[in-house]
Amino acid sequence: MEYKKPCRRCLSEEAGESELAEKIAQRVAAMPEDIKADEQLYRSRLAVCKECGDLISGMCGKCGCYVELRAARKQGYCPSEKRRW
Ligand code: SF4
Repeated sequence: MEYKKPCRRCLSEEAGESELAEKIAQRVAAMPEDIKADEQLYRSRLAVCKECGDLISGMCGKCGCYVELRAARKQGYCPSEKRRW
């Protein structure tokens, strides 16, 4: 079994996790529009995550969520004590 080094500061798509990234994208696409963050808000949140030292292969080290899912919800928030978004 090949060991894959975790990619720090990568979203799941960038970490070479294409199957996972596809599943996340499908879940985001299926999310009802009334609970979904708009594209600008979504992208700005992910840009913050990409600069965060707690991001590991698309997963937030503070809560274990995939940030692309967490950021997609309008009511979502960063679980860090610093509340980065
Ligand atoms: S702590 Fe916040 S900014 Fe950092 S990866 Fe988690 S959700 Fe993103």
